[in-house]
Amino acid sequence: MDDRTHGKLRNHSGVRKVGEQPEDCGDGYVGVWKVTEAVDNWIDQHVPKPSLTPCGHTGVVNLGEEGYTCQNDDCDERFDRETALEVLRG
Ligand SMILES: [Zn+2]
Repeated sequence: MDDRTHGKLRNHSGVRKVGEQPEDCGDGYVGVWKVTEAVDNWIDQHVPKPSLTPCGHTGVVNLGEEGYTCQNDDCDERFDRETALEVLRG
């Protein structure tokens, strides 16, 4: 979720900070936010879901002559430029 979306949610006061937890990487702490069910629905309606590649992953990586693949390092799926564009357009 980007900062703008997050800011919007806070304005709707459907989200509140419930605590902090250690960051996955680094020594800092990140806020733990809790949303109400109404906000969950709002997110569903207003936050675009990332388009998935044919293999069900996100992101498109240009492999040059080999075509395109997703951003999942463990995935060997290849698809063509047209499909890549579709994924990028959403
Ligand atoms: Zn994949």
